Amino acid sequence: MKFYSTNNKNCSVSLREAIFKGIANDGGLFMPQEIPKLSPSFWQNVHHLSFHQIATEVASLFLSEDISREDLESLIADAFHFEAPLVYLNDTLSILELFHGPTLAFKDFGAQFMARLVAYFNQKENKEITILVATSGDTGSAVANGFYNQPGIRVILLYPSGMVSEIQEKQLTTLTGNITALEVEGNFDDCQRLVKTAFLDKELRKGRNLSSANSINLARLLPQSFYYIAAYAQLKKRNVPLIISVPSGNLGNLTAGLLAKEMGLPVTRFIAALNINKFLYEYLKEGKQKPLSVIPTLSNAMDVGNPSNFARILALYQNDQQKINQIIYSRSYSDDSTRQAIREIYSKYGYIMDPHGAVSYLALKEYLAEQNFTDFQGIILETAHPAKFSTAVKEELQIEIEMPKSLKETFSKKKKAIKISHKFKDFKNFLLDT
Ligand SMILES: *Cc1c(COP(=O)(O)O)cnc(C)c1O
Repeated sequence: MKFYSTNNKNCSVSLREAIFKGIANDGGLFMPQEIPKLSPSFWQNVHHLSFHQIATEVASLFLSEDISREDLESLIADAFHFEAPLVYLNDTLSILELFHGPTLAFKDFGAQFMARLVAYFNQKENKEITILVATSGDTGSAVANGFYNQPGIRVILLYPSGMVSEIQEKQLTTLTGNITALEVEGNFDDCQRLVKTAFLDKELRKGRNLSSANSINLARLLPQSFYYIAAYAQLKKRNVPLIISVPSGNLGNLTAGLLAKEMGLPVTRFIAALNINKFLYEYLKEGKQKPLSVIPTLSNAMDVGNPSNFARILALYQNDQQKINQIIYSRSYSDDSTRQAIREIYSKYGYIMDPHGAVSYLALKEYLAEQNFTDFQGIILETAHPAKFSTAVKEELQIEIEMPKSLKETFSKKKKAIKISHKFKDFKNFLLDT
């Protein structure tokens, strides 16, 4: 399988190159040249397959030329040592819990897989890799955790000062060792711009073996499609309309779902659930593609004004806005509505939802109210453990949320971060000096 750049369909690179470069020379994002379909017999038997078996089938569609089946199986078994259970609220609504990984958020799926794939490809080389990660909160800690103590790999995290939660900051800044955290005086888009500019800088590319690991990297994106298919396998009914609501920011999670659809997952509609940072909503409604300035919200991992993976969605559907509208429905919600939803989900179903999942719930509810399904299955993606966003949840529900043990340990450690401005010059000097 070869990969093209969203800026140039004729570009053709190997998996290894796509992963190590992160971003194409022309600034585009890598996409698979074709999206193979999973076989009819796979879909007939999918409910008998384990998460690892599903992941192996899906991954081998894209990776079979670059990694043997045996190595892939052990890589997958090593990466996914946690579950993605589908929890039913009632007969039609369920929650796909994606927060059972080491950092309690869905980004562990992409990060754990990518770290092992990079280590696999790098084991024969004698060169240190520097991985740059811009994070709005959860990406960084997930990636850092994946790469923690991997030989020959160094991770530099960039996060916006004062714009991540206390727990997120602790998770970003307490691993140390081969992980360095940079606290950037700016917002997430500044962090992302610094990383993108670094990849395009000739001097840095020559002197440093740079790679990326945020959701723009293919190795993060592909494994996120596994759990969509594993969720389908767990459904009570597979022959009714399926609607999947995805709390979205940089649109990586949604893009992975779209890839699963192209592989044959029978989804009636994807829902892009947004907080008031509503770039995609504006595009679907009016064709606007203008980057928006970021507005901080309760669901801060979705505070993105210029989502990177939008380019992939356009590439996947040949810039056809009408077609994209048929596949994706999008709505945007305020923090007030999000808070109300946290209360509603708890009082109706006894389920404790974090603010990201609450936005996902709201959008699914609005979509269903507009439709006349007699029967359906609606899946709400819950992307973070509520304990990670316990302030908002406690305020609304007046209950104590039990902090998982791993989180307690992280919380007791001391923050270690280096402050840096949002000027590229400063970031470049830092990279060249260390
Ligand atoms: C990153 C993140 C999101 C948004 O996912 P994207 O792939 O960037 O759209 C949603 N919820 C949580 C908890 C996240 O960490």
